[in-house]
Amino acid sequence: MSEKFPNSLGGKYLKEVLFTELEVKKRLGEMVFEIARDCRGEEVVIVGILKGSFMFLSDLVKFLYIQDIHPYIDFMVLSSYASSTKSSGKVKLDRDITTPLGGKWVLLIDDILDTGRTLSFAKTYLYQSDPKEIKTCVFLDKPSRRIANIEADYHCFEIEDKFVVGYGLDWNNRFRNLPYVAVIDESKLPAE
Ligand code: 5GP
Ligand code: MG
Repeated sequence: MSEKFPNSLGGKYLKEVLFTELEVKKRLGEMVFEIARDCRGEEVVIVGILKGSFMFLSDLVKFLYIQDIHPYIDFMVLSSYASSTKSSGKVKLDRDITTPLGGKWVLLIDDILDTGRTLSFAKTYLYQSDPKEIKTCVFLDKPSRRIANIEADYHCFEIEDKFVVGYGLDWNNRFRNLPYVAVIDESKLPAE
């Protein structure tokens, strides 16, 4: 077992650790500092896109707390990927937020910006509720895969076109619990 895999998953389903738990926390702290600077004095609403954003959002709001920023928090459920590593290209709203956004500074959060369809759909949808401004924030950015015309206002890391898991990101709803980000070995995964 490699030093970077602190459990039995290393070498079995996972090929490589891209960002360790410590690297993630360090970069997140820096990014939250920028966010705090931009939203201080605003009424802030954080909207997380489930399920992938749950762990990133949870750590992010704890860092915001340290910055004395105490947002409303809500979630929307969108689906774009069925159960594989290929995108279906369609985005569907499965659950809406209930927090009013009128006049508020909204931080829209997702795990990863890939083709951009999900974030683009969510941003357009939320603008219908008349917020003051919507800023987008993703944990990872894969710019080489972009189809929709969207960039994130804040991101932690840019990555190459590799399918990654951990820190909320899943393969078939597995591996979301990893506190680090790893590249999956698709040849070792059970056939769907
Ligand atoms: P987009 O709409 O930008 O193409 O895709 C966004 C969604 O696709 C993400 O929220 C995530 O669920 C999924 N996705 C894209 N790339 C990856 C990846 O490398 N790993 C995992 N686990 N999910 C991904
Ligand atoms: Mg997903």
